[in-house]
Amino acid sequence: MILTHAHVRVWIQNYRDLIAENVDELNKLDAATGDGDFGASMQRGLDAAVAAIEPLDTDSIGKLLRTVGMTLVCSMGGTSGPLVGTLFTKMGAALGDTGQTHTANLAAAFRAGAEGVMALGQAEPGDKTMIDSLLPSVDTMEAVIGGEHTLQSMLAEAADAARSGAEHTKVLSARKGRASYVGGGGVGCVDPGAAGMSYMFIAFVDAVGEGRMNPGVTQPTRGGRS
Ligand code: ADP
Ligand code: MG
Repeated sequence: MILTHAHVRVWIQNYRDLIAENVDELNKLDAATGDGDFGASMQRGLDAAVAAIEPLDTDSIGKLLRTVGMTLVCSMGGTSGPLVGTLFTKMGAALGDTGQTHTANLAAAFRAGAEGVMALGQAEPGDKTMIDSLLPSVDTMEAVIGGEHTLQSMLAEAADAARSGAEHTKVLSARKGRASYVGGGGVGCVDPGAAGMSYMFIAFVDAVGEGRMNPGVTQPTRGGRS
């Protein structure tokens, strides 16, 4: 199955909605080791991103993702704004002005995005950041492409890897970000940025599921989540 620009729009809407539903939890995770703003920042950024792409009359996946990324950088603030923004802008640049693409290109775009985040933030795996959720997902996608997997099942595997990666940050001691300033580096706490990445993949699985149930719909309205 092919990824379309319509899926991308639903993905970003779903991500906005999922973050809004879990904003308090994400703020609490950040409050345990930082300043408590991560959920609110993500919510502000994704509200702005949805508002930015809604009026865009384009079929270009790259343009949609670049717009999301630039909007997140401008509206989120904090450490995570430029990092999450870079993930989307690099993905958009990698995918280019196509209206649809396949799983291998999507996995490659996630790889480019993750490398962009690492180049900007200089975090390594194990530093207790969003990288510890994002990178296992990208590795998983690359491992399953070419097999029996559909777009949805590839993203479902990525979402599982992201959730496990986020859960695993509990045992890590932070070497980057505010959590590295607290005693013990926040051992025992889940990193909020890693949890945010996990939600991103859950939102994507839901988006392509809806797309599959509504083939041919080019501008789907959001539905199905309750
Ligand atoms: P702050 O409030 O400290 O400016 P945010 O609350 O916006 O930061 O974001 C915190 C999240 O940013 C962390 O949970 C972590 O996942 C991520 N993060 C922090 N530093 C880095 C880094 N250098 N590379 C990747 N992610 C990072
Ligand atoms: Mg914070």
